[in-house]
Amino acid sequence: MVFTHDTDVTLMHAAALANTGPALGEEDREDLPDLPALLAWMDRWGWTGARPTSQAEVDAVRALRPRLREIWGRDEHGLVDAANTLLAECHALPRLVRHDAFGWHVHATSDDAPLAQRIAVEVGMALVDVIRAGETDRLQVCAGDDCEDLLIDLSKNRSRKFCDGTCGTRANVAAYRARKAATA
Ligand SMILES: [Zn+2]
Ligand SMILES: [Zn+2]
Repeated sequence: MVFTHDTDVTLMHAAALANTGPALGEEDREDLPDLPALLAWMDRWGWTGARPTSQAEVDAVRALRPRLREIWGRDEHGLVDAANTLLAECHALPRLVRHDAFGWHVHATSDDAPLAQRIAVEVGMALVDVIRAGETDRLQVCAGDDCEDLLIDLSKNRSRKFCDGTCGTRANVAAYRARKAATA
C-alpha cells in the first residue's frame, strides 16, 4: 500500500475507467457502451450510492475518460490545478464515513450525486494525496508498444511498466524467452 486503501483503489479505478475508452488516435474501443455495462462496472468496483438510470449518465461517465488521460500526463503543477478544479467544480465537501466492509474513508460529495460527479471528486481527493506525498510519478502510461493504457504504479520499488492487459503478459513471456535463450 502506497497511499491509503481508498486512494489506491480510486487511482486504480481511474486508470481502469480511462482504459475502457479509446486512447488518442484509437477509434473503436468501448467497454462501457450502455447502462447495463456501467451498472456492472459499478458493482465490479464496489460503488455504493445512487445508481445511474439513463444513457445521459453513462455519457457523463464516459466523458471523464479523455479528461483522466489528459490529467495523467500532467506535471506536478498541472496535477495541482486538476485536483483543485475537480474539487471546486463539484463543490466537494469532505467528510469521514464508514459503510459496508470499508473502514473510515472520505466521501466528498453526497451519496445521491450523479456517478460521474462522485468519480470526479474521488479522483480529485486521490490527487490531493498523491501530490502531498510527492508521488506524482506513480501515474504512468503503459510502456507496451502501441499501448496507451493508463496505470498506477503501486509497487514498492516503482517497477511497474506495463498495464494489466496483454502487455504485462507479453513482457513476462519475452523475459522468460530471453532467460531461456541465455541459458541455452
Ligand atoms: Zn465509501
Ligand atoms: Zn499496455
